Amino acid sequence: MKFLSILLLLSSIISCDSTRSITPTQDVSKQETQRANTPIIKSDTENTTIKRDNVAATQKAKNVIFLIGDGMGIGQITAGTYMSDNKSSLERFPVVGLHKPYSSDNLVTDSAAAATSFACGVKTFNHAIGVDKDSLPVQSILEECEAKGYTTGLVATSTIVHATPASFIAHNVYRRNYEEIALDLLKTDVDYLVGGGKRFFDSRELDDRNLIKEFEAKGYTVFDQLEDFIDLTPAIDKADKFIYFSANSDPIPVASGRDYFIDASMSGINFLDSKAANTTTDGFFIMCEASQIDWGGHANDSEYIISEFQEFDQLIHKVMDWAKKDGETLVVVTADHETGGYTIQPGSTQDSLVTAFTTTKHSGDFIPVFAYGPGSEMFGGIYENTDIYFKMRSALGFEEVKK
Ligand SMILES: [Zn+2]
Repeated sequence: MKFLSILLLLSSIISCDSTRSITPTQDVSKQETQRANTPIIKSDTENTTIKRDNVAATQKAKNVIFLIGDGMGIGQITAGTYMSDNKSSLERFPVVGLHKPYSSDNLVTDSAAAATSFACGVKTFNHAIGVDKDSLPVQSILEECEAKGYTTGLVATSTIVHATPASFIAHNVYRRNYEEIALDLLKTDVDYLVGGGKRFFDSRELDDRNLIKEFEAKGYTVFDQLEDFIDLTPAIDKADKFIYFSANSDPIPVASGRDYFIDASMSGINFLDSKAANTTTDGFFIMCEASQIDWGGHANDSEYIISEFQEFDQLIHKVMDWAKKDGETLVVVTADHETGGYTIQPGSTQDSLVTAFTTTKHSGDFIPVFAYGPGSEMFGGIYENTDIYFKMRSALGFEEVKK
């Protein structure tokens, strides 16, 4: 017994020694750069296959509300929560999991590949929209819902042809082919669209077409940023299908006065829900994206991140209130990836944060997933980002497809 404890003690000293290479005399900043730049090579441990149980939804969801905070990692959630009196809507979720965000060609994904994983259930290459790693188009969950008679919608605080919303409705090998993506939107029957990027529809370089006129000819009611969104409720109520272009190009940050996101998302949910009452399925699928948390991360701007997070947080509160009353809606909140390598540093207090960034690009960290409602029990654990697609389909009761 004594011998064993000596052995244990010895081994712990050895293992501590091997990890503690920092001495107090070292320059901290130099040391941190070194640490950040040293590639970590996988140790030669045995390859173990982890077998997860196949979880299926125990209760069917009528609707899915999918909320994406672009670039919203743990750092963004932590900072946003502390700067909101240590409270956030995410604390209301009973189920929390983690997804692995890497793409098919890069351990650090971009928004296009990541959103394609959520939308289509495939890992694909960075910059790809709604296509697999061989560039072949894959039907998205939104398109499948549309085909099955659900009402569908997309809301974003970026342009509506930007990577995240586009991956649910368009198929293109390159995310910046905005005018081609706009044409893809016209081919679908999505019921409710809100976001910027009007110019890709009516001031096109690729051709002379005015896609807004073409949308109107298809029965859409179209408004733009010249109208105040808050006054549009009567028009939305009367519309068969509805589009609101919130900006000619990118919408402005919330701190500069953008004010449509929460109202547009909640109006969309109510519109799709009441319209769904006349369909055979009775349900809807909507994806709402807080696009600019990511832009704050790229700009290494803490205030930008926090203000965008706080607006998203308010929306999540409202969605949770709605879903609690409804009782048949699965709500899933996640991010596509983290942006900025954003962390809370020593010296911080809950009222005054000292933050740091490791990059102006995306990072490769695992990403939290929050779920509520029928089927939410499937979202606990650690899984691939593509599994979010399979879990949402399973919650809706769709027949299983091969992974
Ligand atoms: Zn980004």
